[in-house]
Amino acid sequence: MTNPEPAHLLIVDDTPTNIEILLGMLEQDYDLSFATSGRQALALATTEPHPDLILLDVMMPEMDGYAVCAALQADPTTRQIPVIFITAKTDADSETRAFAAGGVDYIHKPVNQAVVRARVRLHLDLKRQARAMAQGLAELQRANDQLLVLSKAIEQSPTSIVITDRNALIQYVNPWFTAETGYSAAEAIGRNPRILQSGLTTPAQYQEMWDQLPRGETWVGELVNRRKSGEVYWEEARIAPVRDAAGDITHYVAVKLNITDRKQAQERLVYMATHDPLTQLPNRSLFFDRVGQSLELAKRHGAKLALLFIDLDKFKPINDTWGHAVGDLLLRAVAQRLTDRVRATDTVGRIGGDEFVVLLHEVADEEAAIKVAEALGEALRQPFAVADRSLAISASIGIALYPDHGEDASALTRHADAAMYQAKAGGRDRLDLFTSPT
Ligand code: GH3
Ligand code: MG
Repeated sequence: MTNPEPAHLLIVDDTPTNIEILLGMLEQDYDLSFATSGRQALALATTEPHPDLILLDVMMPEMDGYAVCAALQADPTTRQIPVIFITAKTDADSETRAFAAGGVDYIHKPVNQAVVRARVRLHLDLKRQARAMAQGLAELQRANDQLLVLSKAIEQSPTSIVITDRNALIQYVNPWFTAETGYSAAEAIGRNPRILQSGLTTPAQYQEMWDQLPRGETWVGELVNRRKSGEVYWEEARIAPVRDAAGDITHYVAVKLNITDRKQAQERLVYMATHDPLTQLPNRSLFFDRVGQSLELAKRHGAKLALLFIDLDKFKPINDTWGHAVGDLLLRAVAQRLTDRVRATDTVGRIGGDEFVVLLHEVADEEAAIKVAEALGEALRQPFAVADRSLAISASIGIALYPDHGEDASALTRHADAAMYQAKAGGRDRLDLFTSPT
């Protein structure tokens, strides 16, 4: 580090001629001030701005150079100022005393200009370097202290923190990571975070992540991961690349929050919004969503669909005779029986009190749909063992087919419903295929 300002030297000598000699040698390069006694030297040295270096005569009346130097050493504000003794005393004892008093150098009189200039430059440089080093050390210490605080925060964070190198190999995991995943730091370090993959995060998400990260972008998303124990959990992850001074990516830092509870609560809400709480069957909204999707597919593949409306006959008397709770149990048993009798790909729903619906995918023709409906009617005719009783019930079933009886969900629904009412009107415990009122 170079100092733009010329250094400030204090020359101390009780003989003005000596001062003038030094002045001639140094005034071109330095800012100079003078003292002709020890006391005056101390007064100047302790006043700010302090001199950067002192050239100090030894033999002076009242207070000699050793005493001045010792006083400067004793004062913390002047201790750092280098003192070069300039004296005619060339004996070893005097030199020893000079260094013992705190001097950094010793120049004999008569002075040699080259020696004076070289020594002054040398000690000013040494002082600057020492100061720069002290500053650097202080900065390092500060940075180190800050690092300690930051690493404490990372260690205590109630989120998983993972640091990988640029090749995605784990270099650091915090204690929360270990608590979350069951992998100790020793087990995780050196491995790829793939050890957490459950197979349930979509490939598209990993693709997006590895598109963004090498470009220096932060990726935020949800991951379904697997603990060492095999248990699956949800994480909201925030992964950011870290670049070095040259701008190259050196690390990736991932901060991950467990959101399993939130996810499960969301799933529960969605489930509750789409299922009948009594029978757990799809409710009206989900059922007709499925009808819509199936119609799209059927249209594309030229397939037939059948929609069945099933309303239990004389269900009210069951409630009236045995109580609402028994009625509920019967509705559940009916739901179970219907679900058991259709293919896994077909959908059973409950859209009203005792009103069930069944969507049959890919029925070959009317006869096939009628066969399934007959089988369901027959199944419901079998007595139900409910609450230690044997209850008998029957159902009226209306059938409408796509595309024969309607092109869209609304027409199919109206027509299956109409067919069901026809079955009721026709005496109950029977099924009717929709017939257009011509
Ligand atoms: P119908 O033969 O004409 O179908 O007559 P029904 O007695 O079956 O009566 P309807 O289908 O018109 O009405 C269904 C009845 O089911 C109305 C209500 O008392 C009863 N119900 C509706 N929801 C529930 C429920 O969640 N639990 C119980 N236990 N009963 C219900
Ligand atoms: Mg009914």
